[in-house]
Amino acid sequence: MSYNINTLRLPPLPSIRDLVKLYKLRALKQLSQNFLMDERLTDKIVRAAGRLTDHHVCEVGPGPGGITRSIIKKAPKRLIVVEKDPRFLPTLNLLQESCPKELQMQIDIADITRYNLETAFGGAPKMEWTHSLPPIHLIGNLPFNVSTNLIIRWLEMVSQKSGAWAYGRSSMTLTFQKEVAERMIAPPSSKQRCRLSVMCQFWCDVNYKFTIPGTAFVPKPDVDVGVVTLIPLKKPLIDLPFKLVEKVVRTIFNTRQKYCVKGAQNLFPEDKREDLAAKLFILADVNPKTRSFELSNEDFVRICYAYNVLCEECSEIADFNFRATKFENIEQVL
Ligand code: SAM
Repeated sequence: MSYNINTLRLPPLPSIRDLVKLYKLRALKQLSQNFLMDERLTDKIVRAAGRLTDHHVCEVGPGPGGITRSIIKKAPKRLIVVEKDPRFLPTLNLLQESCPKELQMQIDIADITRYNLETAFGGAPKMEWTHSLPPIHLIGNLPFNVSTNLIIRWLEMVSQKSGAWAYGRSSMTLTFQKEVAERMIAPPSSKQRCRLSVMCQFWCDVNYKFTIPGTAFVPKPDVDVGVVTLIPLKKPLIDLPFKLVEKVVRTIFNTRQKYCVKGAQNLFPEDKREDLAAKLFILADVNPKTRSFELSNEDFVRICYAYNVLCEECSEIADFNFRATKFENIEQVL
């Protein structure tokens, strides 16, 4: 049962002065900990997530708890906060103590990249994938490097219907560096079109909600921030293993401005590269002289299925990994 937010009394957010004293802002800057202290903005992020009353919410990286307070005001049934930095435990504990008894707030000091969301949401209702959305939300303002890596990881879980997505099409509301958020929604031929655009759009309905200027954060980051919601598609655009799809899309985007066949050649061992890439585009019925950033999601779907056919014909192709020696860091290819 939800509670009356008019009678809710939460402790105030620590002031900026408290933060400087308690957590040493310079150290925070190194950890990319940029805090939102403006309640109107934290409320706006939480509003972007939609209805939360009686829902199960996981907030990642609550820090001093600005967004956490806005979530509590929406009267969820259960709130799990996952924070890596134990220095925030005292402020989060205070918040937990002042929560209404109808709200179960759980604090986990843990790294979200190793955190088991399926276990954490235990007891939440499960919905059929093609039915309505489950009452489950992931909300977070994380450091940029964490959120970009995390979204790829979570997309893989969406594709496998595991983790938070073992319960159905759980929604995500996350912040990204503005340029990354723009890449996530980028259509074919746009300046920002990249691997991340295709991977997000294959599995999710992605919406850029609004921009928060860097000046709204303490300490101020050098960039602006985009708030994005992702809702898994009832019917993903592709039904192939995530790793295979990722390999194809990444390899083709390594030569973003060139004819896509050039990038696709790197999917194959050197001695057969040109012939197999030509065969791939015939099978896929895609013009090999399209530039990679001009390819539509549907073109990529057909290229991935054609690549899968070639892999089934010859296991040497499936095992070949051009990238193993070339690109180690995800950030290099985004
Ligand atoms: N949500 C707060 C806000 O908006 O003011 C804090 C935002 S700050 C950009 C990111 C927070 O995520 C920090 O509190 C940081 O300690 C936490 N964090 C960073 N990496 C994390 C990880 N891997 N798992 C969980 N929390 C993490």
